[in-house]
Amino acid sequence: AAKAAGKDRAVMFDPRLRQEQIDRVRMVERLRAGLANDEFTVHYQPIVDLRDGRIAAVEALARWIPPGSDPIGPDCFIPAAEDSGLIIELGERVLRRACADAAAWHRGHGVALTVNVSPRQLADPAFAAKARRAVADSGLPARALTLEITEGVLVNAGTQADQALSHLATLRGDGIRVAIDDFGTGYSSLAYLRDLPIDTLKIDKSFMPADPADLRQKALVRAVVDLARSLDLTTVAEGVETPHHADLLRELGCDRGQGYLFARPAPAARVTALLAADQAAAATLAG
Ligand code: C2E
Ligand code: MG
Ligand code: MG
Ligand code: MG
Repeated sequence: AAKAAGKDRAVMFDPRLRQEQIDRVRMVERLRAGLANDEFTVHYQPIVDLRDGRIAAVEALARWIPPGSDPIGPDCFIPAAEDSGLIIELGERVLRRACADAAAWHRGHGVALTVNVSPRQLADPAFAAKARRAVADSGLPARALTLEITEGVLVNAGTQADQALSHLATLRGDGIRVAIDDFGTGYSSLAYLRDLPIDTLKIDKSFMPADPADLRQKALVRAVVDLARSLDLTTVAEGVETPHHADLLRELGCDRGQGYLFARPAPAARVTALLAADQAAAATLAG
């Protein structure tokens, strides 16, 4: 009888997989409730110009702190939001909130904004229209916004990639920029960098050498920076944690850096204070 039940039955009764299914369903239920209760906020992490050390932009990062419970990390809830489609609603809220916060920072300090966009959002036929409306409603100039996408989105041919490309073409027509996030972690060919509608490469944090004496790792970072520069792309290094990382990136000509060395992601109010201090520091240096 066990044999006749077949593969599917066997899977259903595997207690570990069964538990994973329950956890998954529960996470999606909590996400839906969290959205209904407005439990999501946005934190921002500075992206620093490596030449002058000033804050050039901030990256919006979704945060979820359900009342009376510990924060749930994006690495946990973003995949669940993607699988369930709830990322479309969550992503729109993050974009609207972030554009509204960044409009004031841009007015006061010329600071730009980057926002992560998931593949699922780019498959939504209404994405470009929603994004355009979010930007227009906020007063943030379109050219001050960069959308961060991952390399897989545009590379795999098919209707999803076509839809994504058409959204990005529309939004780039408005002046919005596009960055490839976590560059170097995917498996795509390099030829696409030449052809795709992108402005910036964000070099994944796994490229930052753990050991300053690691010349092979340094050669790898140099190759990525040179490649990006030869294609006229702005380079941003993620995971800048040590002064050695910053020195290396400056030496290699990387444009910008982001990481714990400069600042951790922080709530909007802290960023407002940080920008005021950044401006004061720059004024002191200039004076
Ligand atoms: P990401 O877009 O690559 O964002 C950078 C991540 O690196 C953030 O993690 C940030 O806190 C972390 N980080 C920054 N500096 C350092 C550093 O010096 N060292 C190390 N080890 N890590 C650093 P976070 O906030 O946990 O977000 C994780 C990922 O979740 C993001 O990676 C992004 O892929 C996704 N995510 C976050 N918010 C959103 C969102 O609103 N929409 C979408 N679609 N994805 C999001
Ligand atoms: Mg990102
Ligand atoms: Mg990234
Ligand atoms: Mg990354």
